[in-house]
Amino acid sequence: MDKTQKNKVSPIDCDEAARRFSDFMDNYIKGKAKVELMQHIADCRHCFERIEFEQMLKAKVSAMRKATSIEKKAAKRNMEEMISKIYSA
Ligand SMILES: [Zn+2]
Repeated sequence: MDKTQKNKVSPIDCDEAARRFSDFMDNYIKGKAKVELMQHIADCRHCFERIEFEQMLKAKVSAMRKATSIEKKAAKRNMEEMISKIYSA
């Protein structure tokens, strides 16, 4: 047996996750690309913390602008649901 446990199931790496992440924040990302991003985040503590931090920042900015913060909250909840599904799978 070789030690490939480190690679696990994550279909994308941190660089790819970072690239998709900005699309995710702007709601440009959908379907498989989004699922892969979620899988990576569920798997990668580093990216998970970064995405949480960025979402918190962005939520604060939109709250200040009184923009569509409801949409952002929905996106965040959607992400949390997907992550919990992945964890319980
Ligand atoms: Zn990562």
